[in-house]
Amino acid sequence: MLQTEAAATSQRPAESRPGRNVCVYCGSGPGTDPVFADMANELGRSMARSGLGLVYGGGDVGLMGIVARAVLDGGGHVTGIIPDFLRRRENMLDGAQETVVVPDMHTRKRLMFERADAFVALPGGIGTLEELVEQMTWAQLGRHTKPILLLDVEGFWRPLMDLLAHMRMKGFIRPGLELSYLVAEQVKDVVPMLEAAWARRPPAGDAYLEERF
Ligand code: AMP
Repeated sequence: MLQTEAAATSQRPAESRPGRNVCVYCGSGPGTDPVFADMANELGRSMARSGLGLVYGGGDVGLMGIVARAVLDGGGHVTGIIPDFLRRRENMLDGAQETVVVPDMHTRKRLMFERADAFVALPGGIGTLEELVEQMTWAQLGRHTKPILLLDVEGFWRPLMDLLAHMRMKGFIRPGLELSYLVAEQVKDVVPMLEAAWARRPPAGDAYLEERF
């Protein structure tokens, strides 16, 4: 089902699926190591098996396309959120149960945030990094408590974790501005880690602070 900008409100649509959705941030390219594609495929399959819907950028390129097609192939639910100007460049995916075309990147990121119950970052480039770090900053400022998980394929996120440790050591990440995220090295750990994190959180609704943005 294709929705346009007019439908891109902050409300979940009536036909939105019940159950939890995971926003996956990942590269619009495949990267150099074939293990990245394997992990993306495995993650999509495991989400479908676990009944977790995918929220993502809506394209059929790179790791983004691989995750989305794996969810669909596994019988799962996909929500793609894509800015109009990227429909061609990121080759908008056919077959998603829900596609929302939005006017700009900011609307895309806001809707991805609103539709998601957790965020998982696979390897990617600057777009992936920007989206991931934005969620970290919003969590750090107490705007949400949705789990954020780095899927650390082949140590891909190690340089970022080193930078975060450096920031902590130098006193910029500090009490009151603590940062909390999960790290999985294997796909099989992702869903159990998210489920454990959800179980630790206050009930949905009370903890979602998006209306304060
Ligand atoms: P990349 O990791 O650079 O391959 O990008 C992954 C996804 O992030 C693609 O769908 C990009 O369109 C998207 N992206 C790139 N830059 C930004 C940005 N500043 N804000 C949000 N998404 C972005």
